[in-house]
Amino acid sequence: MNSNTVKLSYPLSAVVANVMKNQKPMHADSSPVEKLAPLPNAHDNILTTIGNTPVVRINKLAPEGINLFVKVEAFNPLGSVKDRAALGMIEAAEKDGSLKPGQTVIEATSGNTGIALAMVCAQKGYPLVVVMAENFSIERRRLMRYLGAKVILTPSTRMGSGMLAKAADLAKLHGWFLCRQFVNDANADIHTNTTAKEILRDFPAGILDYFVSGYGTGGTLKGVARVLRDESPATKIIAAEPENSPVLASGIAQSFDANGDAIGSHTAFKPHPVQGWAPDFLSKLTQDVVTDELIHNIVPVSGTESLKLARQLACQEGIFCGISGGATFAAALHIAQSAASGSNILCMLPDTGERYLSTPLFDNIEADMSAEEAAISATTEGYQFSRAASSTAKDQPTVEDKKPELICTEDERKLIEGIVEDALAPIVIFSLEWCEFCWSAVKLFQALEVDYRTVHIDSRECRQYGTTQEIQRALAACTSSSTIPQIYVAGEHLGGCTQTFKAFQNGTLQLKMAYTGIAYKSGLELDPQSLLPAWTHPR
Ligand code: PMP
Repeated sequence: MNSNTVKLSYPLSAVVANVMKNQKPMHADSSPVEKLAPLPNAHDNILTTIGNTPVVRINKLAPEGINLFVKVEAFNPLGSVKDRAALGMIEAAEKDGSLKPGQTVIEATSGNTGIALAMVCAQKGYPLVVVMAENFSIERRRLMRYLGAKVILTPSTRMGSGMLAKAADLAKLHGWFLCRQFVNDANADIHTNTTAKEILRDFPAGILDYFVSGYGTGGTLKGVARVLRDESPATKIIAAEPENSPVLASGIAQSFDANGDAIGSHTAFKPHPVQGWAPDFLSKLTQDVVTDELIHNIVPVSGTESLKLARQLACQEGIFCGISGGATFAAALHIAQSAASGSNILCMLPDTGERYLSTPLFDNIEADMSAEEAAISATTEGYQFSRAASSTAKDQPTVEDKKPELICTEDERKLIEGIVEDALAPIVIFSLEWCEFCWSAVKLFQALEVDYRTVHIDSRECRQYGTTQEIQRALAACTSSSTIPQIYVAGEHLGGCTQTFKAFQNGTLQLKMAYTGIAYKSGLELDPQSLLPAWTHPR
């Protein structure tokens, strides 16, 4: 995409000589303005720096005999693969006239597309409105606002489809240009014209054996896979997706309306920690990849593996990527285990790790000095602190608590009672595997050093009792609250995360535990709000 070969129309030395003689530049008075011709190595504007991202060999983490490479999309100016899509969609709309000069652009996005659109719109002069679910990392919203965009938040409980519906409503009412990245072919076309061409240039003559990518909108997968099928037919296309949300692997069809928009959530969807991957519906662009039979293999990846491998890429290869990069890399390693010796594998790393400072990727990465670091400091005398700084997060969280549907069969009630009245496990936390509020509640019981039982209602083990939605409905009927987590102590319902924190703060939780003979760490001084996800702390 870069066009660096423009020639100067007059020699640079003449300009320099002019300045040296302290003369007025030619355009400083009323004489005709002569624009400086483009410099051969300078970009005309930021947008021509998009694309041409490097392919980097993996050294320590690759299995013996396998040539494993990553394509590092963090090298794009705003740090993600979506810089390509944003430019592609805006320029296609300019070309076909659907976007008018100065018209407001709007899009629903988990963040990277919004940040990329904010850059493109800032450069081209379009106002931008981004609609985003509240649970995506705070860094993302602040970046978009910093770049001049307006950010409208939607409740996390309404998931990806909720933010999409909100963006469509706003676009319709105000006459704004809606990008529709999940449906818009310009999103895939830019990958056909840039990403795929770069891959063919870097892996010439069909030497690439595997191309590994996740999918969000499916733009990368569709745009690259169709080119590789035609121009490098021996390359196998590997699609990675969250293990607990097997939307592709389930083979269950998604319904679409006449515009190509998905209707409702996909039944195999579950919340997962890989931001930017697999929304709660299968997009039209991803469906196209399935329909065209472009995928050779689908690799499931767990959330834990995704986080682990993102960290390993950082610590062992110095390659800094986000959670989806770790997830895609986990899938690539899985392929590498059974690939023939000498195989060439390319793995997409969609964005930079810097976008995840407030997420589980940075859990246990402290801001304060550890005991080990303090000990290093203490080896010389000066410049030490008298005591460590303490955390001061005190803001109250807001947890949406919808009216529950109070229906539950006799069998369901008995099942829940059986779980919560088990004398061997008196503390029970009903949770979702990747729910950050559930983790916060768990952290409190860990800090209290008590044994607890978590029942992940979206786990495979719970399938025998019904779907996640069915179990959640039954739980709501028993607890009169539809939020997750729900916590029981010795058969008695305590409440959700907020109520549990309150019970800890006013001592009733400790009293209940003492009364029922549950040993816990007494005198624990902890502000439970500090256990909540960072995105709930207003700034
Ligand atoms: N990873 C991240 C972090 C993303 O933001 C996205 C885009 N939603 C993807 C992966 C998937 O890319 P695509 O939309 O092209 O499928």
